Amino acid sequence: MTAQHHLATRAVHAGREDLTDLGVHATPLDLSTTYPSRDMKAETERLDLLITGARDDGMPVYARVGNPTVDRAERAVASLESCEAAVAFASGMAALSACLLTVAAAGKSHVVAIRPLYGTSDFLLESGLLGVTTTFVDADSVVSAIRPDTGLVIVESPANPTLDEVDIRQLANDCGDVPLLVDNTFATPILQRPAELGAAIVLHSATKFLGGHGDVLAGVVACSEEFARQIRNVRYATGGTLHPLAGYLLLRGLSTLPIRMRASSESARILAERLSDHPAITAVHYPGLNPNRPAGQMEGGGALVSFEVAGDPADVIGGVRLITPAVSLGSVDTLIQNPASISHHIMDPDVRHDVGISDKLLRMSVGLEHVDDLWEDLCQTLAVMG
Ligand SMILES: *Cc1c(COP(=O)(O)O)cnc(C)c1O
Repeated sequence: MTAQHHLATRAVHAGREDLTDLGVHATPLDLSTTYPSRDMKAETERLDLLITGARDDGMPVYARVGNPTVDRAERAVASLESCEAAVAFASGMAALSACLLTVAAAGKSHVVAIRPLYGTSDFLLESGLLGVTTTFVDADSVVSAIRPDTGLVIVESPANPTLDEVDIRQLANDCGDVPLLVDNTFATPILQRPAELGAAIVLHSATKFLGGHGDVLAGVVACSEEFARQIRNVRYATGGTLHPLAGYLLLRGLSTLPIRMRASSESARILAERLSDHPAITAVHYPGLNPNRPAGQMEGGGALVSFEVAGDPADVIGGVRLITPAVSLGSVDTLIQNPASISHHIMDPDVRHDVGISDKLLRMSVGLEHVDDLWEDLCQTLAVMG
């Protein structure tokens, strides 16, 4: 597997390069928590190496330090994101926490962040829970917000839940020497690769599209090998490790990511267009319908559509029959939720409104159902709302 192969090929083969020589077809699932060794001195040497965050193909020592099934998923995500390395965590929040702890440990405990962000990410930064202080600014004020102790600039594009996009190349430029972290959960590497645009760190809630079937809680950070060593060290010390079964399911999910993203995005575009003409809808937020998008950044509009309703959003949530009324996104089935009452409920309501998250906003993650069945379900629930 090389970087010259197309994304669709890497999605199927990256992380699995050795399977034929191993004589197996499905990836081995290694559930060991510990690894026996009769050579105590060699074991100590391996442990000394692994806890620096270094990686090689040698025997693991203990599951919190590294696991071969999880390593495969990491290599696959690194390949798809055009990064040297990737490090998997127990969840997207564990991944973000490790990034914050890593920069703070290096004496850079100030972060600049652009809203809106996923509700819990916003809370983690706003609360200062990890000893990191955050200045929230607009994308065009990042330069003046950066201080000598700024360790990270954080952005989501498209952002959760408004689907606002920022010009990643411009932003990376504005960051200068400060690493830019782009949460790429919504676009996935199939539609957008932030590292190719200058981002130093690409973060995923792999719970969403990468896992893709609503049965894996996972986070991944794709980055340089140098930063990967540091966050592996934090993962080892704090224990936000991904379970091997989750690593197995994540790798399996990645193999269909290109076709899932393309199919869901196509349906999302059609639904966004139809919703724009529906009398019960007051606003549609869909990157593909925005004429002023950053050029050469994201392919298509993605699989999420957010829209505002004239009536009570609770009636829409209560009225869907095919669409799943649930938080989260990126599954094979279509999911809908009201950010103000669920995913972004933890935010201060005034801040929430300021960043464009209306109480009447609904966020829909389009799955793989036939688009006409989804449209019919939306029409019947919007009709109930009146
Ligand atoms: C869900 C989500 C997260 C958090 O990920 P978990 O896997 O739930 O911990 C972070 N960022 C974005 C954009 C998300 O949608």
